[in-house]
Amino acid sequence: MRSHKNPPATSRYARLLTDPRWHRRRLQVLNRDGFSCRACGEGDRALHVHHIGYIRGRAPWDYPTRMLVTLCAPCHHTLHDRAPARSDDAPIQLSLFID
Ligand SMILES: [Zn+2]
Ligand SMILES: [Zn+2]
Repeated sequence: MRSHKNPPATSRYARLLTDPRWHRRRLQVLNRDGFSCRACGEGDRALHVHHIGYIRGRAPWDYPTRMLVTLCAPCHHTLHDRAPARSDDAPIQLSLFID
Protein backbone atom coordinates (compact mmCIF):
# COMPACT_ATOMS: atom_id res chain seq x y z
CA MET A 1 0.00 0.00 0.00
CA ARG A 2 1.16 3.48 -0.83
CA SER A 3 1.95 5.76 2.05
CA HIS A 4 2.55 9.48 2.16
CA LYS A 5 4.67 9.04 5.29
CA ASN A 6 7.80 8.35 3.26
CA PRO A 7 8.97 11.55 1.63
CA PRO A 8 11.11 11.12 -1.46
CA ALA A 9 14.84 11.01 -0.77
CA THR A 10 15.26 14.39 -2.42
CA SER A 11 13.26 16.22 0.23
CA ARG A 12 15.32 14.60 2.97
CA TYR A 13 18.42 15.71 1.11
CA ALA A 14 17.03 19.21 0.64
CA ARG A 15 16.61 19.44 4.40
CA LEU A 16 20.27 18.51 4.91
CA LEU A 17 21.20 21.48 2.74
CA THR A 18 19.77 23.82 5.36
CA ASP A 19 22.27 22.50 7.93
CA PRO A 20 24.79 25.10 9.19
CA ARG A 21 27.63 22.65 8.45
CA TRP A 22 26.65 22.65 4.79
CA HIS A 23 26.43 26.43 4.77
CA ARG A 24 30.01 26.60 6.08
CA ARG A 25 31.26 24.07 3.55
CA ARG A 26 29.42 25.82 0.75
CA LEU A 27 30.97 29.14 1.69
CA GLN A 28 34.46 27.62 1.58
CA VAL A 29 33.81 26.41 -1.96
CA LEU A 30 32.34 29.74 -3.06
CA ASN A 31 35.37 31.53 -1.63
CA ARG A 32 37.77 29.20 -3.41
CA ASP A 33 35.96 29.74 -6.70
CA GLY A 34 35.81 33.51 -6.23
CA PHE A 35 31.99 33.51 -6.04
CA SER A 36 31.58 32.76 -9.71
CA CYS A 37 30.39 29.81 -11.77
CA ARG A 38 33.19 27.42 -12.73
CA ALA A 39 31.43 26.52 -15.95
CA CYS A 40 30.54 29.92 -17.42
CA GLY A 41 32.27 32.42 -15.12
CA GLU A 42 29.08 34.21 -14.10
CA GLY A 43 29.12 35.72 -10.65
CA ASP A 44 25.87 37.67 -10.77
CA ARG A 45 23.51 34.73 -10.78
CA ALA A 46 22.35 32.55 -7.91
CA LEU A 47 25.28 30.27 -7.17
CA HIS A 48 24.98 26.62 -6.23
CA VAL A 49 27.63 24.29 -4.96
CA HIS A 50 27.54 21.07 -6.93
CA HIS A 51 28.87 17.69 -5.84
CA ILE A 52 31.13 16.31 -8.54
CA GLY A 53 30.37 12.86 -7.22
CA TYR A 54 28.33 11.36 -4.45
CA ILE A 55 29.55 8.99 -1.80
CA ARG A 56 26.79 6.81 -0.44
CA GLY A 57 25.79 7.64 3.11
CA ARG A 58 27.85 10.84 3.36
CA ALA A 59 26.41 14.10 4.57
CA PRO A 60 26.57 16.84 1.88
CA TRP A 61 29.22 18.74 3.85
CA ASP A 62 31.34 15.65 4.46
CA TYR A 63 33.21 15.90 1.16
CA PRO A 64 36.65 17.26 0.34
CA THR A 65 36.52 20.70 -1.29
CA ARG A 66 37.94 19.26 -4.51
CA MET A 67 34.75 17.26 -4.92
CA LEU A 68 32.64 20.40 -4.77
CA VAL A 69 32.31 23.02 -7.46
CA THR A 70 30.55 26.39 -7.74
CA LEU A 71 27.98 26.58 -10.52
CA CYS A 72 25.36 29.19 -11.31
CA ALA A 73 21.76 28.02 -11.21
CA PRO A 74 21.33 27.66 -15.01
CA CYS A 75 24.61 25.72 -15.41
CA HIS A 76 23.71 23.54 -12.46
CA HIS A 77 20.31 22.71 -13.91
CA THR A 78 21.83 22.01 -17.29
CA LEU A 79 24.28 19.64 -15.72
CA HIS A 80 21.62 17.71 -13.85
CA ASP A 81 19.31 17.59 -16.83
CA ARG A 82 22.23 16.30 -18.87
CA ALA A 83 21.16 18.55 -21.65
CA PRO A 84 23.75 18.62 -24.39
CA ALA A 85 26.16 21.45 -23.69
CA ARG A 86 26.33 24.17 -26.29
CA SER A 87 29.79 24.36 -27.75
CA ASP A 88 30.18 27.97 -26.59
CA ASP A 89 29.42 27.07 -22.97
CA ALA A 90 32.13 24.45 -22.51
CA PRO A 91 31.15 23.01 -19.12
CA ILE A 92 32.49 19.81 -20.67
CA GLN A 93 34.59 18.19 -17.98
CA LEU A 94 31.98 18.96 -15.36
CA SER A 95 29.38 16.85 -17.08
CA LEU A 96 31.82 13.95 -17.18
CA PHE A 97 32.29 14.06 -13.45
CA ILE A 98 28.77 13.43 -12.27
CA ASP A 99 27.71 9.95 -11.28
ZN1 LIG B 1 27.21 29.13 -15.04
ZN1 LIG C 1 24.53 19.35 -8.44
